[in-house]
Amino acid sequence: MNTYNIKKITRRTLLKYSFSTGALLTVSSSFPPFLMAENKSTGLEHPFKNPKNYTDKGRCPNCGMMLNMWARTRHEFSNSEGAHTTCSIHCLADMSQNSGESPKNTKVALYLHPEKIVAADMAFYVIGSSAKGTMTMNSKVAFLTEEEANNYVQEHGGTVVDFTAALTAATKELALSRPKIEGKRKKKGIVTEPTPETRCPVCGMYPARYPKHRSQLSTEDGTHHHFCSNQCLVLFMADQKQYVEKPAKIKSIWVTVYPDGGYEYAMGLYYLVGSNILGPMGKEPLPYRSKSAADTAAGEHGGTVLRFTALTPVNVMAI
Ligand SMILES: [Zn+2]
Ligand SMILES: [Zn+2]
Repeated sequence: MNTYNIKKITRRTLLKYSFSTGALLTVSSSFPPFLMAENKSTGLEHPFKNPKNYTDKGRCPNCGMMLNMWARTRHEFSNSEGAHTTCSIHCLADMSQNSGESPKNTKVALYLHPEKIVAADMAFYVIGSSAKGTMTMNSKVAFLTEEEANNYVQEHGGTVVDFTAALTAATKELALSRPKIEGKRKKKGIVTEPTPETRCPVCGMYPARYPKHRSQLSTEDGTHHHFCSNQCLVLFMADQKQYVEKPAKIKSIWVTVYPDGGYEYAMGLYYLVGSNILGPMGKEPLPYRSKSAADTAAGEHGGTVLRFTALTPVNVMAI
């Protein structure tokens, strides 16, 4: 049982923290392998349970999964925000849709030789085979040559397509796959629901009562904290020791998408801060799925759109 040290939040407390939440994020060494297709095994290890050959210890910026585990389906691309590596073409499609930008310089790992990564335009994708996918039941795996792709289809089924067709298929699946992905996260305990008695460690309110604003994070020691609002989440991340006896490294963070609902990985969303839309604690960073939705809300309600790593107690509380 975790003991919370509930503190009254004062303006002075807030101004103490000028650093951003991004600086406080740590990378976990493991993450439960989930969301892989439960179809016929192809004899390949995917995900890698104990990845040794891949040096990228980072997480997919869209879903939070460990990149080295999902090396066979990883993609690299760039857009106006910088260069990114995702676990899959699903997360590439999601980020492209949410940012409103087509990916540039896209590369894909070869499914059979995940140490190699090639230009996606040159690769041959097999979609809908019995290969295990990532974030989808309809896998999309890449090969270097058409011959290799055709050979794979002969043994494991599916269809050979180019990158554009694979990305189009992944984009079409997004709306359907989101509730399934959230369901699997809940089933695996990666995302949990607060009980009516669960209290926000920052303000002491009950997150179960605020389904449009609540958020949660898990730490390396196995603790799960539920927050009434993203204001309390950001305050907690800025200085854990104010609220818990034993601060621990943060593993992953989940926020409620505004206004649609549903928990999503915090890093992938666009946050409206300083608007006139208030949450349970007043000023609130509101997580929108797409940049265009956040920009539209800023036009109507005021405020600025930021990514999660830029949120600080000071800018979240700005008037
Ligand atoms: Zn991902
Ligand atoms: Zn709270």
